[in-house]
Amino acid sequence: MSHINTKCVQAGYSPEDGQAKALPIYQSTTFKYNSVDLLGDLFDLKAAGHFYTRLSNPTNEAVENKIAALEGGVGAMVTSSGQAASLMAVTNIAGAGDHIISTSAIYGGTFNLFDVTLRKLGIETTFVDPGISAEELQAHIKPNTKLIFGETLTNPSLDVLDIEKFAKVAHANQIPLIVDNTFPTPILCRPFNFGADIVTHSTSKYMDGHAVVLGGVIVDSGNFDWEASDKFPGLTAPDASYHGIVYTKTFGKSAYITKARVQLMRDFGAQMSPNSAFLLNMNLQTLHLRMARHSENALAVAKFLEQNEKIAWVNYPGLESNAYYQLAQKYLPNGCAGVIAFGVKGGKEAAKKFMEHLKLAAIEIHVADIGTCCLHPASTTHRQMTDEQLKEAGVSPDLIRMSVGIEYIDDIIADIKQALDQV
Ligand SMILES: *Cc1c(COP(=O)(O)O)cnc(C)c1O
Repeated sequence: MSHINTKCVQAGYSPEDGQAKALPIYQSTTFKYNSVDLLGDLFDLKAAGHFYTRLSNPTNEAVENKIAALEGGVGAMVTSSGQAASLMAVTNIAGAGDHIISTSAIYGGTFNLFDVTLRKLGIETTFVDPGISAEELQAHIKPNTKLIFGETLTNPSLDVLDIEKFAKVAHANQIPLIVDNTFPTPILCRPFNFGADIVTHSTSKYMDGHAVVLGGVIVDSGNFDWEASDKFPGLTAPDASYHGIVYTKTFGKSAYITKARVQLMRDFGAQMSPNSAFLLNMNLQTLHLRMARHSENALAVAKFLEQNEKIAWVNYPGLESNAYYQLAQKYLPNGCAGVIAFGVKGGKEAAKKFMEHLKLAAIEIHVADIGTCCLHPASTTHRQMTDEQLKEAGVSPDLIRMSVGIEYIDDIIADIKQALDQV
């Protein structure tokens, strides 16, 4: 079973003779044992098995194994949301007194997590421009820097991360690169192939793809050498909460993802529900079909908009005119997913008028599901800002973010055309 399209359908769950064809939902908080000693061994991590759903559950495990197979990692852990995945991916290896580096072009929720909440926990973040040179990036590294973080294809600015450049600097300093791969999904980009060490996702976007379940996931490549320096005592020194276990010694290549589960998930408790895991698994079975159609439709819409005289500008890395076109060809050769940003001539009022005339495309906050939808940040998510402040935030008053769905392309374009005709 080698091709990723086959893995979408088959990986993670293989029923035996007479077992359910569909992944069963283990709607159980706990698991029964006959031996007190065996349960004790599970608690001490001396044996493998499920005992409480906050730590692991067979339905969740099947989805974790599917996603690990899709990304090409040694293990994965699902979480209650993408935010929980970002929080745990970082705090698994950074704590009070540590420093991390992140590109500034990241999802707003991740930005707040790093800029506000992690600072309160004693973790300091330096934000860098994604276009930064390797030399400048190196200059930001401190003795207590524990990781570099970036987003493959940023939401909503649509910058493409030069993963190899960031991985090279990280590895020269014996620290890992963590990449949020939410928008491309492993169908369009597998960051481990370019040197990323840990991948995170909000599965609430394309992985679910039907706007029904919140979720997140952390995937471990198994490639990072935590023992090469003394920077990661949490992985290389005894954990008193498990009778002095040393993660790198006991779990080898899976040290990072095992610690995330048995220590952070145990303590933070941000587990995905088995019901959500069932839905996520079902929707992942068609991820390869959906990503191809989202990308194809978005490119067609972007090209249509580029030719229309009522449109001021279009941002989609799949367009040859785009500043990220070359990087997109390298990292996203099979498509740039379904999200595009553009401006309607006439500013804020024209943008609102255009959107209110759309019939097929819905106005929503969400992105990355099968139905075409759009958002006008200047009058919703960023409405408290003046035009001047919007400019500083990189959100122009005319900016419309459109998440192109998998409807028939001629219908999507006809809807955009009739709405533009009325502006
Ligand atoms: C939505 C999103 C998140 C946060 O995920 P939630 O599931 O909403 O918590 C993180 N990263 C990116 C790129 C996102 O688009």
